Amino acid sequence: MAALAEIRGLRKTYGDVTAVNDVSFAIAQGRCTVLLGPNGAGKSTILNILAGLLRPTAGAIAFSGLPPEADRRPLIGYLPQQVALFGWMTGLEYVRMAGELTGLGRAAARERAAELLSILGLDKAKDRRIGGYSGGMKQRLGLCQALVNRPPLLILDEPVSGLDPGGRRDVLDLLRGLKDESTILFSTHILPDAEELSDDVLIIRAGAIVVDDSLATLRARHEQPLVEVELGDEATAAAWLERLSAIGGFAERRGSVVRCRFDSAEAMRDGAAAAYRLAAAEPGPVRRVHLGHTTLEDLFLRAVES
Ligand code: ADP
Repeated sequence: MAALAEIRGLRKTYGDVTAVNDVSFAIAQGRCTVLLGPNGAGKSTILNILAGLLRPTAGAIAFSGLPPEADRRPLIGYLPQQVALFGWMTGLEYVRMAGELTGLGRAAARERAAELLSILGLDKAKDRRIGGYSGGMKQRLGLCQALVNRPPLLILDEPVSGLDPGGRRDVLDLLRGLKDESTILFSTHILPDAEELSDDVLIIRAGAIVVDDSLATLRARHEQPLVEVELGDEATAAAWLERLSAIGGFAERRGSVVRCRFDSAEAMRDGAAAAYRLAAAEPGPVRRVHLGHTTLEDLFLRAVES
């Protein structure tokens, strides 16, 4: 897979705090890469360095086709964690200004701003002051700003954090549409979102990369079939943990959900049949029996906690 950018030996220290420690990875052209890690792991630092807002202590960033000393900012659209918006401006004025700042002429900036506002569903609000926009609308406006110069690489720092479920769904759907035509690198804490959008996964812990692989490879390597029993309350969870432990596999409890992971689909089928029999015999506390697979969240927890 052709790399759009290669990051080698990236390091950033603040006094005696090492925020990013010898990080190397490639961003594959045309793919969507998610950067995951607990708070303080170094995600924003890496994204700020890539976006050209922060100087690394050491390391090199090479963009395909660009000399090392060249300004890479024209190649990047960046949505920071907190977008600086001016409440007194209208949406159209703001995106037009962003366009002019990236070097578009007045007419081109106006045309591009109107086009993006329409694509991102802000057509009706474009002449209203930003101060009256909802959180989801502001985030979409931030995306307009990031996309204004048709960047080959879109960097998004927690693009859905702070949004209500409707705003989050809007932004996820937009990103899914953008994904087909752009290279995207984004960070998030929301693992189902990472799983929905990303092709490639980077997990960092304490400034260092601990997982760097495609989602497909991670699934093939780590995914395990499982049976989950969701209980109406936690009072019966201990008894259910014992029952599921007795049907084989590896049983564990997460709040009012008791689940059992298996090494093979055959073992899971036998386990599921046993779990359904148990649930039918004692239907009261059981809300749901679910057959599925472990998720990126399981892998993430293992990678950052081990
Ligand atoms: P994340 O985005 O994964 O939450 P950050 O990149 O914001 O992590 O931070 C990584 C580490 O660097 C943290 O320990 C954080 O406290 C530290 N850090 C970030 N910015 C600064 C700064 N300006 N001065 C000192 N320490 C900082």
